[in-house]
Amino acid sequence: MASATLNIDLNAIAQNWRALDRLSAPGVQTAGVIKADAYGLGAAEVGLALARAGARRFFVAHSAEGMALRKVLGPGPQIAILTGHLAGATEMIRDHDLTPMLSSLEQITRHLESLPGHPFGVQLDTGMNRLGVKPADWQAIAPILLAAEPALLMSHLACGDVPDHPANEAQLAAFHAMTDGTGLPRSLSATGGIFRGPRYHFDLTRPGIGLYGGLPFADATPVVQLSLPVVQIRHLDPGETVGYGCTWVAKRPTTAVTLLGGYADGLPRSLSNRAQLWAGNRACPLIGRVSMDLITVDVTDLPEIPDSLELLGPAQGIDSLAEFAGTISYELLATLGQRYDRQYQEHSA
Ligand SMILES: *Cc1c(COP(=O)(O)O)cnc(C)c1O
Repeated sequence: MASATLNIDLNAIAQNWRALDRLSAPGVQTAGVIKADAYGLGAAEVGLALARAGARRFFVAHSAEGMALRKVLGPGPQIAILTGHLAGATEMIRDHDLTPMLSSLEQITRHLESLPGHPFGVQLDTGMNRLGVKPADWQAIAPILLAAEPALLMSHLACGDVPDHPANEAQLAAFHAMTDGTGLPRSLSATGGIFRGPRYHFDLTRPGIGLYGGLPFADATPVVQLSLPVVQIRHLDPGETVGYGCTWVAKRPTTAVTLLGGYADGLPRSLSNRAQLWAGNRACPLIGRVSMDLITVDVTDLPEIPDSLELLGPAQGIDSLAEFAGTISYELLATLGQRYDRQYQEHSA
């Protein structure tokens, strides 16, 4: 193994999509959120796998992501743009049949003036205060805008992954107040909101992280596997140190291996002296600091020195690794493996 390979199971992604789809009523559609290159796992490959599984609606963050996805998926599936219709994006939106989710009066004006008759959705701010039209503005423009027949009215939950958080019911009530009686298709929930039950499902759900095996989808099928090859072996005497800053000191005769993988590969530096890597079911501590291209691991307790150690796999999922780093699976995935070879598994189901 000359370099590390990030293994991505497209069947597991399709399986997770189907499982999340089954959690809502048959009349509720389930989209696939594949922004940021499908959370770092490859928007083209993931988009095609989801389309084969039956997904007809996709969400990306930027128009350029939408354009790339349209080239892969071809005409037909709806590709929604979460940042809406930004200045300079008009031609891309028109030429690649993208559906911007308009999030401000400025965007609404831009869209209706530059692309009259072109499909769009509207993002409503029900309390997250990130993107979306505020209730007072909505009241003023809804009568005009509804005549232009938005393809979707959507909002986003700030605490959808926290079961009893009062913000959920407050946002649900605000969403009803802003959209009841419009007769238009509606969407409120990402992965977390799907688990809040049918009142949160409306016409379309928008799972992202659950597709990739992350919490709050606790029963998700794992998607990624990553083993890092051993490139050097060291036998250390007590008192010797490892890595930048000499932050780890051997307390016993130690066998340490240096592995191919560092913060330039998306292994957070905050894993320094914290994470574990795995040889089968045996945990080995990461020792010293994560450097740009390399990490070092204590393998003294293994019966023999392996060719590689597993960072992500059956013994340690994305949420466990993210916890070691003091972050969330979203951030870990989005930065992981831009530099690794990606290997996709897809077998007929
Ligand atoms: C990222 C995002 C999603 C997907 O969220 P997950 O928590 O990954 O399921 C859905 N809707 C919007 C508006 C988003 O920004």
